[in-house]
Amino acid sequence: MKPTPTSPSEPILAFGAHPDDIEFGCGGVIARETRAGRAVHFVVCSRGEAGTNGTPTLRSAEARRAARLLGATLEFVRLDGDAQLEIRAAHSLKLAGIIRRVRPAAVLAPSLASNQHPDHYRLGQLVRDATRLARYGGLQALNARPAHAIGQLLFYAVSPDAEPPDLQPVLIDVSAPEIVAAWTAAMEAHVSQMKTRNYVDLQLARARVHGLRAGVAHAQPLWPNDPLVFDSLAAMTRAAARF
Ligand SMILES: [Zn+2]
Repeated sequence: MKPTPTSPSEPILAFGAHPDDIEFGCGGVIARETRAGRAVHFVVCSRGEAGTNGTPTLRSAEARRAARLLGATLEFVRLDGDAQLEIRAAHSLKLAGIIRRVRPAAVLAPSLASNQHPDHYRLGQLVRDATRLARYGGLQALNARPAHAIGQLLFYAVSPDAEPPDLQPVLIDVSAPEIVAAWTAAMEAHVSQMKTRNYVDLQLARARVHGLRAGVAHAQPLWPNDPLVFDSLAAMTRAAARF
């Protein structure tokens, strides 16, 4: 099946290993998309049960509130549990089934950089495999729904160490005050996690640095899994080259 160009009418599907990963790693991008009228669906693959702070019940509630603040829908999927995620074909097939149900234009997943929580990069790999399996027509395990080819898989970095070294990101301008406000509120909804350290400040500072590179107030980086395709050089007029 040939991938089709992404259309604003098709949803975005974001995967997170823990209840706060999506908000911290790409919440500004999500806020921007939902405010532009695009449907966004979150799939969270644990309830943060191995975290230092917060119970699974509390963390699930925080995630639901954060998703609401960003205008996204959310579901939890049980894989191996927090801090126990393994690479298994069965997991990729399960996630591929979700991709076939939601039929997104773009999929967001944690980056594959290894110096971060192991659930993050393992989920990134499972999602990358799932996007491939979702488009294969002959898989019996997935034949309840027609195959689906996504337009693009984009990786986000939950922390500075999760930013893939030696790869240039695509920077998304999230500077509009209402976008920064919605993103900040969604991060602050994870109240239990603020006891560990001030993650909101950390993410806003990261976005500020990427924004300064791009000549805007705040930007969030994403790393495409595949080469981006443009119709002409005219669509490539902006670049971050401020230093
Ligand atoms: Zn995490």
